[in-house]
Parts: sequence; structure tokens; C-alpha cells
Amino acid sequence: MSIAEPHAGPPAWRLLLGYVRPHRWALLAGALLALTTGATGLVLPLVARGLIDDLSHDRPIGRALIGMAALVVTNAAVGALGSYVLRRTAESVVLGARRALSSYLLRLRIPAVDRSEPGDLMARITSDTTLLREVTTDSLVGIGTGGLTLVATVVMMGLVDVVLLGVTLGVILCAGTVLGVIVPRINRASKQAQDAVGVMGASLERILGALRTVKASGAEHREEQTIHAAAEESWRQSVRAAKWSAAAGNTAGLAMQIAFITVLAVGGARVATGAIEVGTLVAFLLYVFYLMSPIQQVVGAITQYQTGAGALARIQEALRLPAEPDALPAPLPTPGAAPAALAFDDVRFRYADDLPYVHHGVTFAVPARGMTAFVGPSGAGKTTVFSLIERFYDPEAGVITVDGRPLDEWDLPRLRSAIGYVEQDAPVLSGSLRDNLLLGNPEADDADVTRVLKTTRLDGLVARLPRGLDTLVGHRGTKLSGGERQRVAIARALLRHPRLLLLDEATSQLDAVNEAALRDTVADVARTTTVLVVAHRLSTVTMADRIVVMDAGRVRAVGTHRELVAGDPLYAELAATQFLATAG
Ligand code: ADP
Ligand code: MG
Repeated sequence: MSIAEPHAGPPAWRLLLGYVRPHRWALLAGALLALTTGATGLVLPLVARGLIDDLSHDRPIGRALIGMAALVVTNAAVGALGSYVLRRTAESVVLGARRALSSYLLRLRIPAVDRSEPGDLMARITSDTTLLREVTTDSLVGIGTGGLTLVATVVMMGLVDVVLLGVTLGVILCAGTVLGVIVPRINRASKQAQDAVGVMGASLERILGALRTVKASGAEHREEQTIHAAAEESWRQSVRAAKWSAAAGNTAGLAMQIAFITVLAVGGARVATGAIEVGTLVAFLLYVFYLMSPIQQVVGAITQYQTGAGALARIQEALRLPAEPDALPAPLPTPGAAPAALAFDDVRFRYADDLPYVHHGVTFAVPARGMTAFVGPSGAGKTTVFSLIERFYDPEAGVITVDGRPLDEWDLPRLRSAIGYVEQDAPVLSGSLRDNLLLGNPEADDADVTRVLKTTRLDGLVARLPRGLDTLVGHRGTKLSGGERQRVAIARALLRHPRLLLLDEATSQLDAVNEAALRDTVADVARTTTVLVVAHRLSTVTMADRIVVMDAGRVRAVGTHRELVAGDPLYAELAATQFLATAG
């Protein structure tokens, strides 16, 4: 189970009804068509009785035959239309669920993502939603139409002969008891089968995301075993579900055959005593025969629902993960066009309740415009400062303000749109260079793109590539060098024209020439924008207007390079060793 803290909630069928509601009229139309088929079929035994009676009394049978043929053809046409409408509706239900679930997952809060497996979440959108198709058509419609047909058939049987009806119902009741034991087992097995599909998705995602490392570590065989184990577990559980489904289906079939034989025996005796005519017995036997289909349908619907209920439960679990609100209850202020001032006031933060604090009261203030460098040993909490500014996480105590207003009083999407963020390790998405550059500002015009390509020194690369900006960069940008990836990430952030630019070790992999060029670009941007950088290079750090020295979740000192070299021993040591070692 790779999803965070599922807790009890409304039953799964409520969720299903939510997805079905927009299509209720189409579903009803499909069900009515299906029902019409059933009803048409229902008249057939009566026609048959007329036919047999006509035959045994030497009357002409032409009209009855034509009537029968007309009925059968209509039946088939209505049936085909009905199943098309139903299938179409079921596909719409799947589409609705996929849309809702993918929108929801994109809005998940980062802590929820931290605690989940992306591959498992993916399986919930792709694989689990597929099962809703059968649940919609077979279960909802099956229970509806099958149930109604069942009742109608039973009423007709009662009209034909009450004694034989009693015999039939007795047999059905016995079968129902057996089914009550079997059906819940299908549910359990199918939930476990879908969970195993989720585990498989998670392993695949993990491995395909780092296939080079897996190969380089010679770990293919072990990883293969993990995936196979999950696939086999899914197989095992699906086979278990299939076993119980088969048992359920055949229990129903067997019950009907027993009913048929019993009715034949009892009915035969009644014909012999003259209580009923042969035609009546044949009609009743035909009804018993017809009962098969709605009973199979209802039993199939129940077993199918049990299979789908596992998937529904998994969809429901995903929908209970905390997400950012879709729309805010009241419009919150949006940051203006001016560069943003920023302050942390005694911020305490940890990634989870059972993890140690990462920020133990972090306090600093950054005025609008200018460049602030964050330095400190690895693990000091520098990247976490940026994550908190983006509101990927909220602090446990203390306040973070932008332009003097606490972060939670800004409209979140608009606040983020004011920020350009280059993550540590500069993620590049698969797709083209253009997709990556325009990710944060799809409306950027060509002149702007050309300008940014120049300032990030990507123009040479783009000119060299035969397909230019349309070059595909591979999964996570593996077709680019580390330095190129970083420059793509910086260009992407610059194209947003941010009021606050956050660069987390954004130039760590650049060569000296490119680094110097980017440094000038950033200095230029800092004249009109508030720029925060996490940097290890002395050259970058010394040009900052102020330097925040962090260590073990606290701010040790704030000052200029000159002040800190003299005033802070940790900074002096970093400047003397680490910075110089990596200075380009
Ligand atoms: P820095 O950027 O200064 O190297 P970070 O802010 O990335 O440090 O990390 C500070 C601490 O928080 C580290 O000990 C790290 O292991 C931990 N940490 C970072 N991200 C997470 C996360 N998503 N979940 C749990 N712990 C985390
Ligand atoms: Mg970091």
C-alpha cells in the first residue's frame, strides 16, 4: 500500500453515483432500451403458447409465425442500440473519472506527493478508472434492468401457474444463500489485485526514471524480480477473484437448471392430473429459461460491482489526499508588478510530524530588488527556504511575508506566477526544448525567447541543433548536458518575467565562461527584480548585496562578504575552503 493515510469515508457506490450523475439520462435511455428487449422477449412464450395450442387444435399458424419473426427482429435491433448507448455512457463515466482524478492529482499538496508513489497514483488514473466501465454498464444497468426483468418475469410466471412459481422461487432462494458467502470474497481479491497493479506501476516508474543508474549498478535482475513479484501478485489475486466469480456465475446457472428440472417434473405431474394444459407447462418452462438471463445479469452485476468496488476504493483513497483548493472562497490580493520584498519571521518547520525540525526559527528580511545569497553547509535548510516561499509546504510556526503580507493571504496561483523558481538539479521535462522554455509562460513571444536564449547562452546550442527549439530533450532532459539543463531551467524562469527569482544552485554545473556570463545576466535581472540565490561559488556569493549564512536550520549571520569574512567564523571557513574549491 503506497498511498498516505487513507481514512474512512462515504461508501464507494456514492463516488460511483457522482461520476454517473451527469450521464443519468443516457444511462436511463440505454437501460430502457435494454429493458424493452427484455419485455419483447417476455411476450414470446405467450406467442409460443398460442402457436402450440393452434397446432394441437389443427388451427392455421401463419399469423403467429409472422408475429414471432417480427418480435425477434425488433428485439435484436433494440438490443443493439441499447448496448451501444450503454457502452458509450460507460466510456463517458470513465472519461469523467479520469478527468476529475487527474485534475485532482495535479493539485495535490507536495507533502501528500512526498508520501505517495507516483507510479501508484498513475495506475489509479489509468488502470483503476478503466474498471468503472464495467461497473457502470454491467453493475448499475445489470442490477436495474436485470432486476426489473426478473420481477416482470416472476409476475408473468405467477400469472401462468402459481404452484410452479413457488417451486422455482424455492430453488432461487437456496442459490441466493450460497451467493451471499461467495460475493464478498470477489471484492477483497480484486482490491488486492488492483493494489498490486499500483505497486507494479510504482516499481516501473522508479526504475524507468533511473534506468541508467539501474543498468550501471547491474541491478536489472533484482529490479526485474520486484516487478515480476508485483505482477504475479496481481495475477494471483485476479485469479482468486475469477475463481469466486466463476463459482458465483455457475451457482446461478446450476440453480436455474435445477429449477428447470424440478418444474418439468412437478409440471409434468400437473399436466398428467389435468391441472394445467401442456401449453401452460411449455410457457412456464420458457419463462424459467428466460429467468436465466436476468438472474445471470443480476449475479454478474453484483460480482462485477465487487470487482469494480476495489478500484473505486483506490480512486477514493487518492481523492482523500490533501490537495490545494481548486478555487479560493474569496478572491485574495495578487502581487503587484513591482519586485517583491520578502521576510521570514521566526519560521519553524519540519517535513513531517515524525521528522526532526529543519528550520528552528529562521528569521531574515530581503528588500525589494537586489540579490541575496544563501550559503551554508549541505542540509542547512537553504532549499527548504525556497520550498516554503513557493508554499509547497506551510511552516508550523512563524510567518513568511511578501510585501509585508503573510503568504496565506495571497492568492496562491497568482503568488506563484510572480515567482521564477529554478529548482536544485534543474529539472527538464521530456518533450521539446520549446515545451520546456514555454512551460512557465506559454504566451512568451519569439523576440522574448530569442533574447532569453542569448542571455542564457543557449543560442549557440539551438543554432547547432538540426531541429532547433523543436529538438526533443529525452526523459528528464537526458539528451542535454548538466550545464545545458541548468541553462534551460534558468531561461524558463526568466521567460516568466518574475518579480521574485529563486535560483537554487542554478549555475553549479556551468563551465567558467558560461558561469561568468550567467552571473552578469543575474546581476542585470537583480536591478529590477528581487533575486535569491543558493550558491557555492565565491564569484556568485561575493557579488550579492547581502549574504544569509545558514547552518543546521538557523540563520547564523547576515551581511556582505567583507563583513562576514571578518565577523563569522563559519562563513570565513566556507569562503576559504568550499567556495574556493568550486569557484569557477
Ligand atoms: P540544503 O538545501 O541547505 O542542503 P535542504 O533544505 O534541502 O538543505 O534540506 C534540509 C533538511 O531537510 C535535510 O536534512 C534533508 O534531508 C531534509 N529534507 C529535505 N527535503 C525533504 C523532504 N521532502 N522530506 C523530508 N525531509 C527532507
Ligand atoms: Mg539544497
